[in-house]
Amino acid sequence: MTCCDRMADDLNQSCELHADRAACPDAMIERVRGGYGLYVRDGENGYGSSVIEIAYCPWCGTKLPPIGDLDLAALPEEGIG
Ligand SMILES: [Zn+2]
Ligand SMILES: [Zn+2]
Repeated sequence: MTCCDRMADDLNQSCELHADRAACPDAMIERVRGGYGLYVRDGENGYGSSVIEIAYCPWCGTKLPPIGDLDLAALPEEGIG
């Protein structure tokens, strides 16, 4: 379930060179604990060692659910309205 085709394309993006999406420069967005994050490629060879939470889709502007806290593993998904 994604807000638009561009987001879906990115989340489904896979490449033969990089099995790990965090290592692939073509992957921009990662789903993180119910929310969405933009890869921060400050790791070795551009590895996405972390993500920055994004509140809105960069392509269509749809408001995105927030990333859940790490220590709240079983956080239920909240409806965004
Ligand atoms: Zn979108
Ligand atoms: Zn790649």
